[in-house]
Amino acid sequence: MKIIIIGSGLAGLSAGYKLCKSNEITIFEKDAEIGGMAASYCQEYNGKEYFIEKYYHHIFRSDSELIALIKELGLEKQMLWIKGTNAYFVDGKNYPMNTPAEILRFSPLSFTDLVKLGLLVLRIKTINDKTPYDRMRARDWIIAGAGRSVYENFFAPLMKSKFGDNAENVSAAWLIGRVKIRADRGKEGEKLGYLRYGFNSLLEALSREITSNGGKILKNKEVTEIVINDNKVQGVITDGNFVICDAVISTVEPRVLDTLTKGKLENLRETLLSIRYQGTACALIGLEKRLMVDGNYWLNIKADVPFGAVIEHTNFMLLEDYGEHLVYITSYFQDEKDFRWIQKEEEVLDSYLRGLEKMFPGFSRADVHWAKLFRRMDTAPVYEQGYLQKVLPFAAGPSGLYLAGMFSSTNYPERSMNGSVKAGFEAANFLK
Ligand SMILES: Cc1cc2nc3c(=O)[nH]c(=O)nc-3n(C[C@H](O)[C@H](O)[C@H](O)COP(=O)(O)OP(=O)(O)OC[C@H]3O[C@@H](n4cnc5c(N)ncnc54)[C@H](O)[C@@H]3O)c2cc1C
Repeated sequence: MKIIIIGSGLAGLSAGYKLCKSNEITIFEKDAEIGGMAASYCQEYNGKEYFIEKYYHHIFRSDSELIALIKELGLEKQMLWIKGTNAYFVDGKNYPMNTPAEILRFSPLSFTDLVKLGLLVLRIKTINDKTPYDRMRARDWIIAGAGRSVYENFFAPLMKSKFGDNAENVSAAWLIGRVKIRADRGKEGEKLGYLRYGFNSLLEALSREITSNGGKILKNKEVTEIVINDNKVQGVITDGNFVICDAVISTVEPRVLDTLTKGKLENLRETLLSIRYQGTACALIGLEKRLMVDGNYWLNIKADVPFGAVIEHTNFMLLEDYGEHLVYITSYFQDEKDFRWIQKEEEVLDSYLRGLEKMFPGFSRADVHWAKLFRRMDTAPVYEQGYLQKVLPFAAGPSGLYLAGMFSSTNYPERSMNGSVKAGFEAANFLK
């Protein structure tokens, strides 16, 4: 069968990998490199070249499909499980947040509030069916269950840094799913996984498998239309040319899918148009010195700075693999009017570096070897109230059209590499 896959992110590559042995696969990717959100780039410092993700990435123990895929591709020896330490920066102070004992020392909350927070987390752990919580706002549910102070002093800044102005509309189902994933960390704190030398090895291994089985991965090729006639996929248009095929797997954002199908997915149209995505503006800097001298990997932030988290990759991964300290400074944003989207790269970087100067007295711009900004608009669905009803099916309706990506059920309540690998496999199953 001749199958076209739109997008070379993990969903597209995973689907291609599953199908390439018995089908003719072509992947069209609009970007200059493969990988989508999980793409890396090659950085050079002091004569050493290394790959690093444009956006910070790690995996969880529960990411079973991704871990199995890593093994299947022979990359298991690169897999490292390391304690990634977290902290919360509130009103100029760092609070470690790795163990229950540390969380109990989070002084912005009173002892009574900490007890309420603990009880809320215990309650969340007992919830198995999230569906009834999909129509409730997380904000209202937290306030009803643990009080306003717990919401305002603990959850609100975290949700704000994740969803910006949409934070208040995020569903309780999302919050429950998220807390369940993160709360299972034991007394010692959670171990996170990383593929030594970067997830680029995974992308390359998948791409090698596809091409060595005769598949094609074509970069800088944007699909502008999925041609559907008589409720059946006929092919796609790219660079003005019609390319015929038997089936298409689309991994693109729902609103883009609506444009590509010229509004022909009538059953899904309303849903496609109602799923909102948010953008990310993530700076990556190479540094002479460690930024978070206490060894923190991940710092959530409640402060007057234009970013929501600082992630020191080399406080997690081995410094010797890079030869310099690597720090991500990141923020989600909601629309194309945001300054992080419209300002020039140097301006956004400057505002981020000013934020670091404010937060870290030991930080000096003289220690910055280089700084880059990666930003795009389509980096995550916003899990608003009622989102569960919007999760898209793997089979789109017209014969031969399948969907896999961040909008799939496998990526709820949090989109992840694992969720997209699983989505790619699920869509591929329809065509095996
Ligand atoms: C800031 C950030 C941090 C993250 N951190 C983690 C983490 O720590 N752990 C984790 O597991 N996950 C993380 N993720 C999520 C993870 O990267 C994604 O869930 C996953 O990579 C998405 O894969 P995908 O294939 O579904 O979508 P995408 O990666 O978005 O792939 C879609 C591809 O389609 C291409 N495309 C779009 N339109 C067209 C078109 N018309 N024609 C051709 N090509 C097109 C795009 O360029 C893209 O390459 C993070 C994501 C971001 C943005």
